[in-house]
Amino acid sequence: MIADVLGDRPGRADDDPARVFADELSRFLAERVDPARVDADHRLPEGLLGELAELGVFGVSIPERWGGSELGLGGACTLVEALAHRDRAVATTVGLHVGLGTRGLVAFATDAQRDRWLPDLASGRRLAAFATTEPGAGSDLSRLATRARLDPATGRLRVDGQKIYVTNGGLARTYTIAVATEGLGGAAFGQNLLVLERDDGVVVGAEERKLGLRGSSTTSLFLDGVDVGVDRVIGAPGSGHKVIGQVLAFGRTAMAAGCTGTAWAALEGATRHVAERRQFGKPLAAQPVVRVQLADMVGGLLAMRAIVAATGRVEHDEAELERRSLAAKVFCSEMDWTICDTALQLHGGSGYVEETGAALLLRDARITRIFEGANDVLLSRLGALEMVRPSAPAATGTAADDVAALLVEVRAAWGGAADGLKVLRDPVRLHRLGRLAVLREVAVATAEHAAPGQAAQRDHALARLRQAAEAAARVPTPTDHVDDVVDALLNAVSP
Ligand SMILES: Cc1cc2nc3c(=O)[nH]c(=O)nc-3n(C[C@H](O)[C@H](O)[C@H](O)COP(=O)(O)OP(=O)(O)OC[C@H]3O[C@@H](n4cnc5c(N)ncnc54)[C@H](O)[C@@H]3O)c2cc1C
Repeated sequence: MIADVLGDRPGRADDDPARVFADELSRFLAERVDPARVDADHRLPEGLLGELAELGVFGVSIPERWGGSELGLGGACTLVEALAHRDRAVATTVGLHVGLGTRGLVAFATDAQRDRWLPDLASGRRLAAFATTEPGAGSDLSRLATRARLDPATGRLRVDGQKIYVTNGGLARTYTIAVATEGLGGAAFGQNLLVLERDDGVVVGAEERKLGLRGSSTTSLFLDGVDVGVDRVIGAPGSGHKVIGQVLAFGRTAMAAGCTGTAWAALEGATRHVAERRQFGKPLAAQPVVRVQLADMVGGLLAMRAIVAATGRVEHDEAELERRSLAAKVFCSEMDWTICDTALQLHGGSGYVEETGAALLLRDARITRIFEGANDVLLSRLGALEMVRPSAPAATGTAADDVAALLVEVRAAWGGAADGLKVLRDPVRLHRLGRLAVLREVAVATAEHAAPGQAAQRDHALARLRQAAEAAARVPTPTDHVDDVVDALLNAVSP
């Protein structure tokens, strides 16, 4: 089976409850969900969410005390991968719920808040959404214009603003929403997550028309004088920045797991095609260049699974979760795109028409480099982390050590404390360092990946990661002519 070659769900025993559940789910989805139909209909099959709720899908990341199965981040990743392997819109709907949608309540709410909301969310009676993005605040969440103002007369909050591109917006009844909360709890500045119900007066906008993920719901939310008690605030007043950061770290790991599911499906389709299709008197799979491409896809997928599994293992280590989740999100979304693109290429013209399914996988994959943090923003963030809190992983005795050494070399070349400060103000260098940190995190995870019988796949993956790290370390980003080129360009569009 192709799954065996790929190292299906690394580090998980056959009787692992998450794996048993994911296998059951895969069988159910194979019967129940036709991805082409979901894409054409722009909606999930009638009744599917209720059936998934019956199976217990919506409670995987919720503690047993509130009706969930408490499988943690690793379990949620196993589940989301299985869902995405069949259909990315289903995986996005469920993944958002078990990740971003419920994480704030699970990790930061009071028990009274958990008692009120988590049982319905665990059973799937209600679906969750998570809303940070606004017309004027996308990558820069310090610019939130949605405000929750405390009315001193009533002691209640009045919430005004607009959220856009909210996954599950049209399906959810429970929303965790990022808002500015100046003055709350005496803090001059600050943000918080609030939990709102649709019945509080949240107005849902029209469904967006999208390139991919067409079966998943994406809408705006309008908040006009929504009146709620202060018991809707999740976490201490003004603590939203930290809370949102940790929720995003959890959610983007689950999203990275979805990337592995899609890439796995793309590789399966491409492998079958090149084994059957004959050109130049032999199967495409016999062409040496095609063989390198297939090996790259296998190695890339193995590395994706390794970094997702390694991130799942540090769920409770805040600092390490942030670092690894950034690496997992960037690497898996890029590798998903690369694998889906190569799969389409190997299908030739048949990949460009919808019948083979290769085009749908590529369309669905594209958003993952943008949502839950645009990759270029995350790379600079990871580079900054590496400057202020460098990581020094233990030696693995593999090519991963060379990748780690290249990063150390680049950082050392950038000098001591004074130069370090200069680098922190230089997004282009931070971006490059972030790229090396991604490759280091992924290489170390791949080296440590316990996958019996997959030494060749693992070593090929490590060789490619080292090659990419050498390119990033040895060749600085050329910036000498950038200002001239870009200023001329911008002048051309200025009125
Ligand atoms: C289908 C879909 C589902 C979504 N689901 C949700 C959801 O459930 N909840 C939610 O809150 N949001 C959601 N989003 C919004 C998504 O998270 C944002 O689109 C994303 O964070 C980027 O914000 P933006 O679109 O405002 O892009 P901008 O911030 O305007 O950035 C545009 C581009 O500019 C570049 N860029 C910006 N800043 C920098 C920088 N500092 N350095 C380098 N490059 C930079 C990047 O290439 C970036 O992609 C969703 C979006 C889509 C399309």
